[in-house]
Amino acid sequence: MNRYPKRDDLRAMSGYHSPQVSVKVRLNTNESPIEPPAEFVRELAAAVGAIRWNRYPDRAARDLRGAIAAMHHVSPDNVFVANGSNEVLQSVLLAYSGAGRSVATFEPTYQLHSHIARIAGATVVNGQRNADFTLSEDEVQRVLREHQPSVTFLCSPNNPTGMAEDPDIIASTIRSAPGVVVVDEAYAQFSPHTALQYVNEDSRVAVSRTFSKTWSMAAARLGYLIAPTWMIEDLEIVALPYHLDALKQVAGVIALKYLPHMERGVAEVVAERERMLREMRSMPLTVWPSQANFILFRPEALAGNAPGSGSASGAGRTVWQRLLESGVLVRDCSSWDGLANCLRVTVGTSTENDAFIAALRNALSARD
Ligand SMILES: *Cc1c(COP(=O)(O)O)cnc(C)c1O
Repeated sequence: MNRYPKRDDLRAMSGYHSPQVSVKVRLNTNESPIEPPAEFVRELAAAVGAIRWNRYPDRAARDLRGAIAAMHHVSPDNVFVANGSNEVLQSVLLAYSGAGRSVATFEPTYQLHSHIARIAGATVVNGQRNADFTLSEDEVQRVLREHQPSVTFLCSPNNPTGMAEDPDIIASTIRSAPGVVVVDEAYAQFSPHTALQYVNEDSRVAVSRTFSKTWSMAAARLGYLIAPTWMIEDLEIVALPYHLDALKQVAGVIALKYLPHMERGVAEVVAERERMLREMRSMPLTVWPSQANFILFRPEALAGNAPGSGSASGAGRTVWQRLLESGVLVRDCSSWDGLANCLRVTVGTSTENDAFIAALRNALSARD
């Protein structure tokens, strides 16, 4: 069979790369290590029995949007819900980017912003962060001025680097951006601040959130956007009818009842993160500070290699491989722009983190 050629603009692209290897300790995708409470599972099981499976779900997802709106003190008309925040972002890009429009990101940042924008047919403009991964006011203003992006992404806290964006730069970006500004707050519960206060009918600001991380619900694929009502109306044009199934809608409503459980989980993860940072700072690594549930780090030199030879020989990749051989999977960011030799570890349970620390110590001292 001859393959049929895909769209020209997809030729240079490949799919999302985050290997799902089955190992004992998986610290590569920033999920919560904590399971939802047993009461949640029981309540959900009961609710499944009440679903009318022969009928389409509520297309407007009223109960779920109402519950999310109540939590954020906004109207349900300010809430758009989709299958993971990735689908939320895709919907924004379908509505506001596309052929002939440009989308701005500040690298290194979440790769899906550029990836989905390209799939939507937009031209992606990658601004650069400072060497310490903070945003540069001058660079943001340059990108906005020169490229007039129809969508500008900020990511706070930023994945994979870990810190919340500077609130003054978030504010000035919102003031100057010619198009929509999306602040991706997938890790909001860890952050000292949010951009939610900028969302109003006269702004073009949208804040995206997800159930995948702090809410311990990655399996459900549920995310949402808080935005002005006119934006929600635009997103409803591009959303497929009944895109949110009944099971997911009810799972989201029930999950939100367990807010205190979620908040306790965040506190536990933060305590573990600080412990990991202390341990990692005593190793031959560059370790970046984190306001999220993951830590970016770079091996500086491996035993048996001269210091600095790490980059050429791929110290990051070598350490990633050695960790994997010890049964610990982390994220290999070493081929990403601006992240040579960098790896990212998700904060897991204390047992998982202990396994990671021990494996990392070994990986750094092992000789080939
Ligand atoms: C994990 C993550 C998401 C979440 O995507 P879902 O589709 O909701 O699972 C979105 N943005 C960032 C920056 C993330 O790290």
